Amino acid sequence: MEKLIITVAPTGSIPKKKDTPHVPVTIEEIVSCALRCEDEGASIVHIHTRDEHENPSDDPRVFNEIVERVRERSNLIVQVSTGGRAGTDLKSRIQRLQMRPEMASLTTGSVNFPNSAYVNPPDLIEALAGEMRRLEIKPEMEVFDLSMVNNAAALADRDLAKRPLHFNFVMGLKGAMPAKIAHLVHLVTGLPAESTWTVSGIGAAQLKMAIHAVLMGGNVRVGLEDNIYYRKGELATNEKLVARISRLSKELGREVAEPDEARRILHLSPR
Ligand code: MG
Repeated sequence: MEKLIITVAPTGSIPKKKDTPHVPVTIEEIVSCALRCEDEGASIVHIHTRDEHENPSDDPRVFNEIVERVRERSNLIVQVSTGGRAGTDLKSRIQRLQMRPEMASLTTGSVNFPNSAYVNPPDLIEALAGEMRRLEIKPEMEVFDLSMVNNAAALADRDLAKRPLHFNFVMGLKGAMPAKIAHLVHLVTGLPAESTWTVSGIGAAQLKMAIHAVLMGGNVRVGLEDNIYYRKGELATNEKLVARISRLSKELGREVAEPDEARRILHLSPR
């Protein structure tokens, strides 16, 4: 089995300081949190940005600044979110790709979030995928249901994405797929050959789904974007969530990848 790739998603669009003081929201908080998570075993950092009121921001200058500083000060793989909560139009989402992060997220379909619809029509998906292909940015296909696996494979068929593909299964979000092992097995069984995959369990499902992924040979995303608790009633920090899954994976006999090993496993160019 390959070593485990740990992604940390430290910020996301939802948690604010009133929910947890540990969520990093300023440029410097996000960068320094990423560095601490690298020390604990993370090899990818999934970046969302906020404005001065902690609301999701689509300001490309903020994305740029974070990407540059993380590159300067760490060996982490930077994965920029192209998610729509911070700005739904294509222009806003495509701008973030121009600083050429090594990876970016790409949701290959539409789904309900707990209180809204997350709308990704085919033309928008194709435009984002095409731009990633042109700039040689590896997409992480964000999968909220089974149809999105097939949509991602169809992008590769049309040369809008390069094989092998990399997937992230988001499980346990209200409105989307439940966090059940049977569903995870079904998703993994249906992936195109040679694909790599990660799982993001939401809320209390984060640890449970992560352990399944470790044992199944997949990879893991943790962080406050998906879950703000370490255990019931105890708030987490990003670095503690990374440290826990790193420790448990090693206990289970699976080593944790350094960023350069993650680059090899994901078919990224060496840095
Ligand atoms: Mg995200």
